[in-house]
Amino acid sequence: MTTLTPVLSQHWDTPRSWTIGSYRANGGYDGLRAALRLAPDEVIQTVKDAGLRGRGGAGFPTGMKWSFIPQGPGPDGTTKPHYLVVNADESEPGTCKDIPLMLATPHTLIEGVVIAAYAIRAATAFIYVRGEVVPVLRRLQAAVAEAYEAGYLGRDILGSGFDLELIVHAGAGAYICGEETALLDSLEGRRGQPRLRPPFPAVAGLYACPTVVNNVESIASVPLILRNGTDWFRSMGSEKSPGFTLYSLSGHVARPGQYEAPLGITLRELLGYAGGVRAGHTLKFWTPGGSSTPLFTAEHLDVALDYEGVAAAGSMLGTKALQIFDETTCVVRAVLRWTEFYAHESCGKCTPCREGTYWLVQLLRGLEAGQGTEADLDKLADIADNINGKSFCALGDGAASPIFSSLKYFREEYLEHQRRGGCPFDPARATVWA
Ligand code: NAD
Ligand code: SF4
Repeated sequence: MTTLTPVLSQHWDTPRSWTIGSYRANGGYDGLRAALRLAPDEVIQTVKDAGLRGRGGAGFPTGMKWSFIPQGPGPDGTTKPHYLVVNADESEPGTCKDIPLMLATPHTLIEGVVIAAYAIRAATAFIYVRGEVVPVLRRLQAAVAEAYEAGYLGRDILGSGFDLELIVHAGAGAYICGEETALLDSLEGRRGQPRLRPPFPAVAGLYACPTVVNNVESIASVPLILRNGTDWFRSMGSEKSPGFTLYSLSGHVARPGQYEAPLGITLRELLGYAGGVRAGHTLKFWTPGGSSTPLFTAEHLDVALDYEGVAAAGSMLGTKALQIFDETTCVVRAVLRWTEFYAHESCGKCTPCREGTYWLVQLLRGLEAGQGTEADLDKLADIADNINGKSFCALGDGAASPIFSSLKYFREEYLEHQRRGGCPFDPARATVWA
């Protein structure tokens, strides 16, 4: 049985955990002191050695991303400023780990920002946070003010000679602005739409300058690595997916919430800690990493929830947003709801996603209402196939993902809608189809 490892979440229940006093009482900013004793390249090497992988969804190695920042003058002989941007625009359906982290211990993130900026030699950093979550915005702003006051931000941080300005920026609430290049466009004051990659932000990011864009949880994990060492970090998780992470359990589960555990724990184990699927019900399907990752069923309860384990089972670890659905849920309705979200949030830049998500919604609405045909299922798969891998950014692939997996595992349920002329889960029909 894998045991839970509360590390980032260890002090979330401490009274006034968000204050700098509470944070320092628990070793806060010791990681920064350790980092400032090293050269920037040594900090990068430490994060590389730890094997920390991006927690925003893609799992890209964090230290490697930092090492892509070019040093010295470019081909034109000039040296451009470097930027660090924290992607705090959490919005993947089911994903709810960064917001509680920033509310409970914002200084973990700020300490990580200072270390990361020092490592990549950035003098300016931004936290791009969803504007709608006003309490998070206010808490971050208050914590940043505390950090300036205490000398962890601003000029000559802790007498090291390193200067850093940190700006908290409120986004206007578009899912696409969580895509890193759309986020950069938005930060520059434009409408947020993805840019062509390459060049990746590490080469040409904010204001066309070398930029590291990292997720909140990734950056917040860095101080703990500097404080406790790479062996400590690697003592958890697996060789290729080391460390601990936050798993967010939601939906039909007895005790939903954040469960911090070593990478590689299984859903069966996590449900053991969370009191199981709600009383009297059974697991039907779940998402390993938000709605953009292919669905799993009860047959995947023992899949190791790390990057390799989930990929080998046909899905993606993504944001580790485990949305649990029991046997009372209509999978067609769930997929329709997600698809409506993707159609609404599609930025419209490329045709497969803009038009494709619209057509998916039209077909799914008919199918869910029992007015579809078997041929519509092939059409659904064909449209999803024309979006997947053919869109400009990952939103398109994400929209196609629940379509493919729901057809793979629940084709009969789609057909049952047609046979009954309506949704078999509709309470008005009085029966739950199983
Ligand atoms: P990606 O694999 O294309 O890139 C991951 C990161 O690595 C990026 O920062 C990118 O710049 C960097 N990178 C990749 N190759 C590089 C190279 N050759 N040189 C330099 N840098 C390189 O993934 P993505 O499109 O950025 O993100 C997709 C993921 O986002 C999905 O897996 C999904 O789970 C996740 N997602 C998260 C949320 C959320 O709310 N957290 C929302 C939507 C999607
Ligand atoms: Fe915009 Fe969708 Fe194309 Fe991404 S895939 S660029 S969100 S239209």
